[in-house]
Amino acid sequence: MFGTPDYLFSSIYDITPNFFIKHGVSFVLCDIDNTLVTYDDITPPKELMEWFENMKKSGIGFAFVSNNCPERVEAFNRELGYPYIAKAKKPLPCAPLRLLKENGIKKSQAAMLGDQILTDSMAAASLGILSVNVPPIKDRTGSFFKFKRRIEKYFMRPYWKKHPDQGELCRLWHEKTGNKYK
Ligand SMILES: [Mg+2]
Repeated sequence: MFGTPDYLFSSIYDITPNFFIKHGVSFVLCDIDNTLVTYDDITPPKELMEWFENMKKSGIGFAFVSNNCPERVEAFNRELGYPYIAKAKKPLPCAPLRLLKENGIKKSQAAMLGDQILTDSMAAASLGILSVNVPPIKDRTGSFFKFKRRIEKYFMRPYWKKHPDQGELCRLWHEKTGNKYK
């Protein structure tokens, strides 16, 4: 289904450089909030810096594409120094596309990594690039967020149907989002 992620992981720390290499991906368009850290984390923790270092050693490049404000993204990215676009208006594909063009990356070499279907996976689907999702680290509790999460289940169901062996992951997703998939 359009917008259904291609791959799901329980956390970014389960994603290895080899996963990207195996799929021909050398450049990851990456969401920040609730994918890498919570909204409250201003800077990346040590283990996340090591995760990026490990990716870098294997030749995996990154760019941040966030709907959050420039101050947030700039502060988070200060030490990492990756290309980025803030206020990216995902799911519109303009910002991710611009990052690919500016960095000379073909769509076939790129993936989108995020936690939301309606922004991250939809942007990936519009671009026709690999969509990789993790569950939200700590969701906001506002009603708009809850509404968005409810809608996600319709896009997630085809994934769980295709991967009946991933019951453990499915349970984790249910815990994090409150969504039932059956
Ligand atoms: Mg997010």
